[in-house]
Amino acid sequence: MKKNSWITWLILLAAVFVVVETNPQIVPKLEKQVAQTTKKLKPYLYLTKVNLEQKLSGTTTKTTTESQVGKATTPIESPLQGMTTSRTYYYHFKDNVPENARQVFLDAVNTYNATGLVKLIPGQGQSNQNSITFFIYHKKIANIMSSNIELGNGGPSALQLNNYAINTAQAGLNMTYPTMSVKDSVAVHELGHALGLAHSSYTNSVMYPVDQGVSKLSQADLNGLKKIYNK
Ligand SMILES: [Zn+2]
Repeated sequence: MKKNSWITWLILLAAVFVVVETNPQIVPKLEKQVAQTTKKLKPYLYLTKVNLEQKLSGTTTKTTTESQVGKATTPIESPLQGMTTSRTYYYHFKDNVPENARQVFLDAVNTYNATGLVKLIPGQGQSNQNSITFFIYHKKIANIMSSNIELGNGGPSALQLNNYAINTAQAGLNMTYPTMSVKDSVAVHELGHALGLAHSSYTNSVMYPVDQGVSKLSQADLNGLKKIYNK
């Protein structure tokens, strides 16, 4: 046990060093950064009341069964509805995206590539190819005790030529609340929007509007992707 906590501290110090080294301007936010770099060790290190309530309601409203989901299809964002589009995307990061945010986006890229339904390739792509830009932004809510916190933002933007769409998509994380937003579940959700998935009413879908910590695509999510890309 003693040995474990020593290793934990060592990893923590190393993580802090990396964060400071790559992002000297964020030193005042060090405490928050530490919280997010250790998220794998202590996932709920800095829970707000709002987030806690969401977590609790999320677990109590989980009534969906696998068989129900099997028949369901996660809805599709309007720019890609009824459209044919390429399954190949070129993705890149805005310069100011920090390493921890890049990592959760890369995890999300792997999640979607693993489906075999889309192919996300690093790079800028041409204007006639589908692309995704990963970005970060800051948005503070006025009253933290009574509002939902926006953890991310993402979606498709389609240039439609007859029935063919060229998708210039974006996926972003709200870095005002990094301990809640820099998560695989949030990145998978926002990338899902970018790829054309809309919100789902199923709590086990990655597209449920409130973060449930779900980063594994449900059968309904896969069905939604198939509808867009398996033509
Ligand atoms: Zn959403």
